[in-house]
Amino acid sequence: MRDFYDIVVVGGGHSGVEAAFSAHKFGLSVALVSKSKKSLGRMSCNPSIGGLAKSRVVREVDALGGVLPRAADMSAIQYRVLNRRKGPAVQSTRAQCDRKKYELSVQKILDENSDVAIIEGSASELIIEDGKIVGVVLSGGERIGAEAVVLATGTFLGGKIFIGDVEYPGGRIDENAETGLSESLKNMGLKILRFKTGTPPRIDGRTINYNNVRIQPGEEDYVPFSFDTMVKIPVDEQVPCYITYTTERTHRIIEKNLLKSALYGGKIVGIGPRYCPSIEVKVEKFPHHPRHIVFLEPEGLDTDEFYPNGVSNSLPEEVQLEMLRSIPGLEDVEMTKPGYAVEYDVVDPTQVLPTLELRDYRKIFLAGQILGTSGYEEAAGLGLLAGTNAALSVLGKDMITLPRYASYTGVMVDDLVFRGADEPYRLLTGRSEFRLLLREDNAWLSMLEVIPKSVFYVLAPENYERYERWRKDIERVKVFVGNTGLSSKQAETLDVPGGTKLADYLRRPDADWKKVLDMFSEISSLEEIPARTFRIEMKYSGYIARQLSDARELRKLEFLEIPENFNFLKIGLRSEAVEKFFRKNPRNIREASRIPGITPSDIAVLVGAIRKMFNDKQ
Ligand SMILES: Cc1cc2nc3c(=O)[nH]c(=O)nc-3n(C[C@H](O)[C@H](O)[C@H](O)COP(=O)(O)OP(=O)(O)OC[C@H]3O[C@@H](n4cnc5c(N)ncnc54)[C@H](O)[C@@H]3O)c2cc1C
Repeated sequence: MRDFYDIVVVGGGHSGVEAAFSAHKFGLSVALVSKSKKSLGRMSCNPSIGGLAKSRVVREVDALGGVLPRAADMSAIQYRVLNRRKGPAVQSTRAQCDRKKYELSVQKILDENSDVAIIEGSASELIIEDGKIVGVVLSGGERIGAEAVVLATGTFLGGKIFIGDVEYPGGRIDENAETGLSESLKNMGLKILRFKTGTPPRIDGRTINYNNVRIQPGEEDYVPFSFDTMVKIPVDEQVPCYITYTTERTHRIIEKNLLKSALYGGKIVGIGPRYCPSIEVKVEKFPHHPRHIVFLEPEGLDTDEFYPNGVSNSLPEEVQLEMLRSIPGLEDVEMTKPGYAVEYDVVDPTQVLPTLELRDYRKIFLAGQILGTSGYEEAAGLGLLAGTNAALSVLGKDMITLPRYASYTGVMVDDLVFRGADEPYRLLTGRSEFRLLLREDNAWLSMLEVIPKSVFYVLAPENYERYERWRKDIERVKVFVGNTGLSSKQAETLDVPGGTKLADYLRRPDADWKKVLDMFSEISSLEEIPARTFRIEMKYSGYIARQLSDARELRKLEFLEIPENFNFLKIGLRSEAVEKFFRKNPRNIREASRIPGITPSDIAVLVGAIRKMFNDKQ
């Protein structure tokens, strides 16, 4: 082990791995401090990647040469496309992975493609001299010097595990928590929050009664997550998941034992994720729901273990088993591990800049669950950004940020940094105002448009070349369809009036693309990925153009200044907005729009009032 690295990344989970992998590409010396080499890339909860909004982040990470999409493809055992019948803005790919193979794939990618030094140990303190980071101390007392540090410690800071009334320190089941580093961060004056998350019990698949559950097979027609691993798994080689539901009896068991749950027994003070509630919360908050869905998901090919997705809880072990056995298909189930809740420290994310660097301590970057997020994909997106910026800051170059209109990672950073987090933050499509711009199919194009070439080329040179070619191909075809009118024979085949512009025809919802592709080799020569993007952009061109124009308008408006001592009263604002604007005193629309609880219509009222004031003065 050397005693100095340009960058030290603490934590080898999904964010730490991306941070180290992206940082090393800049030719810097990078160390990844991990409690254990074997746990690098471990999935704490369910072995699945993707899903709503998250799948777009996976593709953003892939565009920039990240690890998670490749590892997901290398270990996938089933793919599905969610919302297939809905529009492209909400369609998303989800892969069920082999848990063990996933972490081995992460380790293989890191090992074979980087010279990141893996240091086994626990970082217990940051060394700050004259307000500057100079390194970290490991729990054994060893010091490692660093010019920049990325903290990606997940659920381990001050981690505490709860199963019923049993409670003990831990970051994940059977893995120790880290307390020293939490203290170090508090001593630096940082505001620390307390969050909680949970996981369901695991069950023995050999004890599931498959006659009483519904099968959910994989699908054929999907696009793998990484352009580097475009091999698809035939549907008959994919492993099925199963669906069942809780029953009234399940709910009665939970209600009867609610106070024995760590969550309701008053043991847990941390705030849990509203959008991924435990089964106790679902039963208590939605008493009118007669049942809740439970997905039975295999944990891998070489194991009989299943993950019952939907019943995360912190009830006593014996109650967990009783509850499971009240679910159809699980009447005789054996539990292999109990579910549990974990409570942990989070650094209030409003203390970091959009580059993920701490506002008050330069060259310390934060990523993943330590910043208040929940989810592998969220962690990976933030890790890649933090690692890239750590490298750029060491090199004295301009750091990058990701705009909301071009990236879900950007939406997440913006929400966290400006609005903060009052519960574990997960990405949802509803968090973006430009959903149609943030589709799965065009993540490559968005990244190409917003990441400077000098950075993109370092992170993923092959992707850069490939995307530039695809972008030019799409531009060429767009010009072609804009300049081409259908001949009378072509128009007749397509059942439209002669002289119709090809571009206009392709914008029609009933356009027959198969016939068009047969007619025009200029279009059918596009490769599969740009062809998909071109097709969606033609079909939804009206909506996309409107969102692009809204995004441009918003960017202009963000810099509209709010006059000093502006009177927010009597301009038609809701009283909550008036109170918040007076209290926070935003300087411009950007700051105003990021105040928690402020809605787009509050902003519209405010903008209207400021414009009117300027117009009246003229
Ligand atoms: C019980 C549980 C349930 C969850 N449920 C879900 C879910 O249903 N859906 C979902 O999307 N996400 C879920 N998550 C969250 C998801 O696992 C995390 O959001 C994601 O793993 C965060 O990635 P990360 O890289 O930030 O941290 P982690 O994956 O937690 O990795 C942190 C790594 O840092 C290491 N580490 C920590 N401190 C130190 C230190 N001081 N020195 C050296 N190494 C250190 C740890 O050993 C670990 O390897 C759950 C997490 C847990 C623990």
